[in-house]
Amino acid sequence: MTDVIVVGAGLAGLVAAAELAALGRRVIVLDQEPEASLGGQAFWSFGGLFFVDSPEQRRMGVRDSYDLALQDWMGSAGFDRQQDEWPRRWAENYVGFAAGEKRAWLHSKGVRFFPVPGWAERGGYGPEGHGNSVPRFHITWGTGPAVVAPFEREVRAAAETGHLQLKFRHRVDELTVTGGVVDGVRGSILAPTRAARGEQSPRDVLGEFELRAQAVIVTSGGIGGNHELVRKNWPQRLGSPPGHMLSGVPGHVDGRMLAISEAAGASVINSDRMWHYTEGIQNWDPIWPLHGIRILPGPSSLWLDARGRPLPAPLFPGFDTLGTLEHIMTTGHDYTWFVLTQKIIEREFALSGSEQNPDLTGKDVGKLLQRVKPGAPGPVAAFMRHGADFVVEPDLAALVAGMNRLTGSDLISLPHLRRMIEARDRETGNAFTKDAQLTAVNNARRYRGDRLIRVARPHRFLDPANGPLIAVRLHILTRKSLGGLETNLDAQVLRPGGEPVQGLFAAGEVAGFGGGGMHGYRSLEGTFLGGCLFSGRTAGRCASRAIG
Ligand SMILES: Cc1cc2nc3c(=O)[nH]c(=O)nc-3n(C[C@H](O)[C@H](O)[C@H](O)COP(=O)(O)OP(=O)(O)OC[C@H]3O[C@@H](n4cnc5c(N)ncnc54)[C@H](O)[C@@H]3O)c2cc1C
Repeated sequence: MTDVIVVGAGLAGLVAAAELAALGRRVIVLDQEPEASLGGQAFWSFGGLFFVDSPEQRRMGVRDSYDLALQDWMGSAGFDRQQDEWPRRWAENYVGFAAGEKRAWLHSKGVRFFPVPGWAERGGYGPEGHGNSVPRFHITWGTGPAVVAPFEREVRAAAETGHLQLKFRHRVDELTVTGGVVDGVRGSILAPTRAARGEQSPRDVLGEFELRAQAVIVTSGGIGGNHELVRKNWPQRLGSPPGHMLSGVPGHVDGRMLAISEAAGASVINSDRMWHYTEGIQNWDPIWPLHGIRILPGPSSLWLDARGRPLPAPLFPGFDTLGTLEHIMTTGHDYTWFVLTQKIIEREFALSGSEQNPDLTGKDVGKLLQRVKPGAPGPVAAFMRHGADFVVEPDLAALVAGMNRLTGSDLISLPHLRRMIEARDRETGNAFTKDAQLTAVNNARRYRGDRLIRVARPHRFLDPANGPLIAVRLHILTRKSLGGLETNLDAQVLRPGGEPVQGLFAAGEVAGFGGGGMHGYRSLEGTFLGGCLFSGRTAGRCASRAIG
């Protein structure tokens, strides 16, 4: 008999399955998608990982510690609900993992890291408020695919020995329960497809299946590909759901397993906590429906609402994702603008996603070195040429005309924007500036990593030598679910009331990366892949222990 069924062959599922196989368990891994999509979202990811007190940080002069990271985590999470007990405990353990064995464990599996940690989610409030006090975003050498690779290798090796079966196009529709214990799954066999990785695959049903096991681990991902669910769970504190959103995840991130698990007795908590980006651009070469790409911005672009008003401090690019989203939803429009120069785009625009970073993904040092040469990186330059949201013009009048043309409105006023930019430009020569954004830029440049490769030297926007001028229309981009199936520290799924659902475990995004939402309200970034690694491994180990 099968020991454990794993539902979902994304990163969390692969890690859980690899752990189970290493412990000698017989495992079936099911996924609704074809084999081409093995690895789920993690394959598409940038491979950014949250480490604390890493050798990379120390080499760059960054001093970090578990206590500082925990302070930042708790300040960002803002746990304030009774049901936050397990999420909080997962958070404490996870920060310990990130400050402890996480890097060495991955390193032992051959995973390597870019030597300059990035500074994501800078916060901008008090020391105990939201954000990273220091840079902690470590990009994997080889991006997302290199995070997936060791676990895929281990899973495929177990499949070769017959200990593990991979069954694609198997969609779970029900968890079977006997005497209160989850003992298997029922579902549909979907028609074979030639859909390439990440593409929408058809849902035609060929037949049914039923499988039994001593335990089931659900690792089915979040809800970001299902805009209906995102809108349904949209929290009041973020205003009304946006009328228009892009998808930062493939269509298989459909959230169906949440209700299916609930029907088997599971408690779903913190569904209103989500992590969506506010710097989404329409992919000019889309793979999945409404495919959007997130700009990972440096701090220098001017960020304007749809009417051309600056976002309030400290809502600068890369400072506070959800604070920015909350503000945008008060403006009456669901898009904003970055206004910047060629000099800024060359230094400060990174695009999230493995396919948008062929140099890092392909581990190509030659291509990577081209980033320090003049000119925007290739994928960014392609967006400047083909992207529907980009306006590139030699002067401000033409830029404003282009912005208004793009939205079919006259919301951006040339005199107003000119006055704002002239005032900003004057401050670039003022060492004691009161401009909070320029102060933040100057502070960022005190970090060697930012000064070297990430943050442009402050310069005048209206000096043609720094141009052309660029405006980018930014959409809201769905990405991560922060809530989900409530689990205890053994990754056992709990019932409302706190009793474990016997036989049922969960890990990865469907479990809020542990506990039903270890991030609380906000993330420090690079914490999602790590959350899948940590909770996937825990689920594998604990399910194995539980079945004796
Ligand atoms: C472009 C992009 C960039 C990212 N960058 C980063 C980053 O730099 N750092 C970071 O930490 N995180 C990043 N993330 C987030 C991170 O990749 C995800 O949160 C994580 O990979 C989720 O993994 P998972 O295993 O929980 O779920 P998924 O990867 O979504 O996998 C779930 C799998 O379950 C299957 N499934 C679902 N329902 C069923 C069912 N009923 N029956 C059978 N199969 C089912 C799905 O088909 C899917 O294959 C990024 C994500 C994207 C998309």
